[in-house]
Amino acid sequence: MKLITISGLDGSGKSTQIKLLQDYLEQKGSKVFYFHAVQFSLAKKITDFRNKYCLICKLLGKCKVYTEKSVTKANTLQIFLRKLFLRIDIWRFGLLRNKLRNNGYDYILSDRYFYDSIINIAFLEGREQKFLFPTGGLVAPDFAIYLQTSPENIMWRERVPDQGLEYLKKKKELYDAKIAAWGLTVVDGDRDKNIVFEEIKRVVILNEA
Ligand code: ADP
Repeated sequence: MKLITISGLDGSGKSTQIKLLQDYLEQKGSKVFYFHAVQFSLAKKITDFRNKYCLICKLLGKCKVYTEKSVTKANTLQIFLRKLFLRIDIWRFGLLRNKLRNNGYDYILSDRYFYDSIINIAFLEGREQKFLFPTGGLVAPDFAIYLQTSPENIMWRERVPDQGLEYLKKKKELYDAKIAAWGLTVVDGDRDKNIVFEEIKRVVILNEA
């Protein structure tokens, strides 16, 4: 079973490419599991649960653990919890992977991966020296693609991230600094989505040959 991850800035086209890749692999007869690192995360699940059932959260309007604002701002405790949850998520993912393997899946396609979660935490910390989140225990993808897309181009797209240009620029610096350390395969995302997909397909097929 292969793990293919697509990382990149918000709005860089990850979901678009994952969908194209999933359709392509399924048409070839492969059994594919779609994985979304944020939807899977414990922090998100707790927030959803609290928003649904917690009376205080309902009164406040929304749970304060994982709000839209918490993408750009978080206090020390929230950052600590993010890191703790991330550790647990990495462990949970290992279990999920074993289960999928036993169920005969050929691929896990990951829309965002824990790399993206690490970048998000690094952004919140805002201090480069702390950007040393250990990736020990993290399942190394078979193909880790980084959709390198310019923040300016993203701001012209059909659906634009709410956090704005400066946020994207800062995050791009964080991603770019990790390309070598994480062994990311860079794919230029500043092109037509079908051209981008042709390259992703080539990367996957070439590496499988
Ligand atoms: P992400 O999953 O990285 O947040 P999406 O795949 O949701 O990004 O794409 C964000 C927006 O950009 C969508 O409106 C999508 O249609 C558009 N988009 C995706 N890929 C491209 C591309 N290569 N060129 C222009 N627009 C794109």
